[in-house]
Amino acid sequence: MKTVNHWIDGKAVEGASGTYGPVTDPATGARTTRVAFASVEEVDAAVAAAKAAYATWGTSSLATRTAILFRYRALLDAHRAELAELITAEHGKVHADALGEVARGLEIVELACGITTQLKGELSTQVSGGVDVAAIRQPLGVVAGITPFNFPAMVPMWMFPLAIACGNTFVLKPSEKDPSPAILLAQLAAEAGLPEGVLNVVNGDKTAVDRLLTHPDVAAVSFVGSTPVARHIHRVATEHGKRVQALGGAKNHMLVLPDADLDAAADAAVSAAYGSAGERCMAVSAVVAVGSAGDELVAKIRERAEKIKIGPGDDPSSEMGPLITAAHRDKVASYVHGAAAQGAEVVLDGTGFTVEGYEEGHWIGLSLLDKVPVDADAYRDEIFGPVLCVLRAESYEEGLALINSSPWGNGTAVFTRDGGAARRFQLEVEAGMVGINVPIPVPVGYHSFGGWKDSLFGDHHIYGNDGVHFYTRGKVVTTRWPDPADSGVDLGFPSHR
Ligand code: NAD
Repeated sequence: MKTVNHWIDGKAVEGASGTYGPVTDPATGARTTRVAFASVEEVDAAVAAAKAAYATWGTSSLATRTAILFRYRALLDAHRAELAELITAEHGKVHADALGEVARGLEIVELACGITTQLKGELSTQVSGGVDVAAIRQPLGVVAGITPFNFPAMVPMWMFPLAIACGNTFVLKPSEKDPSPAILLAQLAAEAGLPEGVLNVVNGDKTAVDRLLTHPDVAAVSFVGSTPVARHIHRVATEHGKRVQALGGAKNHMLVLPDADLDAAADAAVSAAYGSAGERCMAVSAVVAVGSAGDELVAKIRERAEKIKIGPGDDPSSEMGPLITAAHRDKVASYVHGAAAQGAEVVLDGTGFTVEGYEEGHWIGLSLLDKVPVDADAYRDEIFGPVLCVLRAESYEEGLALINSSPWGNGTAVFTRDGGAARRFQLEVEAGMVGINVPIPVPVGYHSFGGWKDSLFGDHHIYGNDGVHFYTRGKVVTTRWPDPADSGVDLGFPSHR
């Protein structure tokens, strides 16, 4: 059995706590790997390495940092397939989807390569007689990142490339369910010439996370994961004086107006609901069909969903893979089993599904629930599986009110041919990312990603300009070079006139 250890101070470090967690191949259900769980002392060693590295990295030149990042970008590009294979082996998503994940992560490395432009300061000359004001941004120090299982390469890449480009050093705690891609990311960074200690990876569970949240030498925490844990991270880390961005879960709605192209809307709903087996924070998990759109849309979604080929992620003909664990599969199934009793119409029931030759895999088929009441568990909870709820609304206003009453506000989409309605929706909907005829509106790297309400705790979205702001702090320098002849005592409050 393979063992995944830690990456501290530029090298692989064997776990010393004696505690390990299991990593399974979701397609076979076999335990393939064990992952070392870091003790408090091991986390402290990683933070100490990051702190020591910060002494020189924090003041390194932008040219030094970007040269390394450009080399890193080339290495990642050359290792796309290897990263994707590791993702598929531990997460289960199909290879093409895993390659897409790597590509979206690379976008942020490319953004970090351009940090020279993003970190340019501002200068105002002659704000008063002989006085200039410059605004600069400086790194924070040691930053920690805690990431979820569903994007084991991309979400870490949302964080550390920009953090280190800004001059910080980083300690990453990846998901214990699929830890291998993060170790490869760190190895490649070392190969690109990143100095020892600038990027560290500690594997583990709550013990490691809670130490990072309270460690006096950690200046900031980036978190992506479920809402209850995001809330905990935000509370504990801010109580310990840290800057925090904690991105949580979601229930993403897609509003389909009666004038929409229903074939395009059905294609989009199926792709966004069932891609990656619904284990995406931007998955569409609730379609709100307005007026006459409902019956035809549900029929078209069903027709498409029935054709999706489910199978192991390394089989190129598979379109959807298994779920991360058997326990998660059973939980997802329980929502489908309970739906009819709570008033939903079960159009497709994907439970009890298996793949021949892979009977121990964490399989579940596609489920489609129609006319789901708002108080049904399948609608109220984030299921994080291939279960699509359809809700019906009489009007745009009713659909919008339903979406805005959700406790989450991550992504949302509207499908319509009416530009005026789309414009109203983009202004009136309470969510951080909006798609207009685009079902998964994950912003490109140079814009920022983040939700509203229970989908994000903190003030900054992740990557893009918000990312640069999160990983730096502002300083304003007011300068005068006085003529000694003009100098004199003046106890008045300085004004600019
Ligand atoms: P999770 O919250 O269970 O775990 C995320 C991380 O937190 C992991 O590294 C885990 O080890 C750690 N963790 C778990 N429980 C903890 C605890 N009690 N105390 C301290 N640390 C703890 O999330 P997951 O199941 O790995 O990922 C799926 C969730 O992540 C979904 O809710 C999904 O919507 C969300 N997600 C959100 C975004 C976003 O951008 N908003 C992106 C991806 C995933």
